[in-house]
Amino acid sequence: MSSAKQKIQPGFRAESALDYMAPHALRELQLKRLRDVVQRAWENVKHFHDRMDGIGMKPEQLRTLDDVARLPFTVKTDLRDTYPFGLFASPMKEVVRLHASSGTTGKPIVVAYTKTDLEAWTSVMARALAAPGVHEGDIVQNAFGYGLFTGGLGYHYGAERLGATVIPVSGGNTERQIMIMKDFGATVVFSTPTYFLHVIERAQQLGIDMHELPLRIGFFGAEPWTEAMRRHIEEATGIKAFDLYGLSEIIGPGVSVECECQDGLHIFEDHFYAEIIDPDTHEVLPEGAEGELVLTTLTKQAMPMIRYRTRDITCIMPGQCACGRTIRRHRRVGRRSDDMLIIRGVNVFPSQIEAVLLECEGTLPHYQIVLTRERGLDQIEIQVEVTAKVFSDKVGALEGLQKKLADAVEHVLGVRVLVTLVEPSTIQRSEGKAKRVIDRRTS
Ligand SMILES: [Zn+2]
Repeated sequence: MSSAKQKIQPGFRAESALDYMAPHALRELQLKRLRDVVQRAWENVKHFHDRMDGIGMKPEQLRTLDDVARLPFTVKTDLRDTYPFGLFASPMKEVVRLHASSGTTGKPIVVAYTKTDLEAWTSVMARALAAPGVHEGDIVQNAFGYGLFTGGLGYHYGAERLGATVIPVSGGNTERQIMIMKDFGATVVFSTPTYFLHVIERAQQLGIDMHELPLRIGFFGAEPWTEAMRRHIEEATGIKAFDLYGLSEIIGPGVSVECECQDGLHIFEDHFYAEIIDPDTHEVLPEGAEGELVLTTLTKQAMPMIRYRTRDITCIMPGQCACGRTIRRHRRVGRRSDDMLIIRGVNVFPSQIEAVLLECEGTLPHYQIVLTRERGLDQIEIQVEVTAKVFSDKVGALEGLQKKLADAVEHVLGVRVLVTLVEPSTIQRSEGKAKRVIDRRTS
């Protein structure tokens, strides 16, 4: 590691005190808050009241945390069906902020915050950023989009709360982004992993070695990313890359974060109650079992979410983290059930393909999955960029790599794929989340 980078210095921080609560006290607090939030939703949100009536349940029937499993789920379509303000539990005069999802089709989903909600959000984001060591004196480059998207402002207020110096640069304008990173001496960066790859690549083209910059920590989120991608980012820049999870429906970024151990994400359980369910049977699964993450907000006023089905596939990790935090962890979200592709009857996740591609020497972390259908049969083509050196190699070498990748992908997925190696910078770059899959199949 370059001498330009300071060492990460984790350690106990006042703002992190709640991360170390005694488990029994935490469960008591969760139960009290759960009862309050369910009561609040029942009294103020017709949609929720009707759902409860539908199953003949009343808030006072919640006696233990296990009773959560009796409550009805909330799903994304509930937010669309009640657009724009139907799930609000506070009158508009108490709502001080609205955010909305970008929504690729139709209406976006809208989320609301009271002053108390914004305070809670700022506090969980401060705890998240403090976990792997952001502190006063850090210069933070926030490359998440500012606007209706929750990323920009969520990170912004959390970093300010810690006393860090925030540069609200937002996404895009990559050359200026790199100039600012270098000239202002940014020590921390926030970005989607996809956009940061683009920054790394542009810096290399400009002849800037990111190992020589003071940048030491990056927080990446808003889309699933793999361990292989983490290694690529860390090796290309010399920073430590941390996963930070959240979603607008729940609060925005700030639901959970990796500490310096990079071994699962600590859930801020005093604000969010996490369950893992079997997505088909809806049964609540024990610690260690993989399933869909379901979250209940315990403190949200303006828009409480009861048992929200995130579609993210993960597990609650058994045991305590080496960092000493008592709040539980979920494993990194590698895939979303929404991302699942069904190819010739086989379930395929883009992240499985990414992991295989990045394991191979000579490939670059820029790829695209193109699905077509020929004579009723699904075809899958993976276009992946290779280094200029590989590309200019003898034809035999390219063919060798192509075969190696196709074999490796087939080994993992059980489906034969066509691999096409392309020159660097061929695949379109994104300033936000990646568009990895192009589905050209028509029924
Ligand atoms: Zn930890």
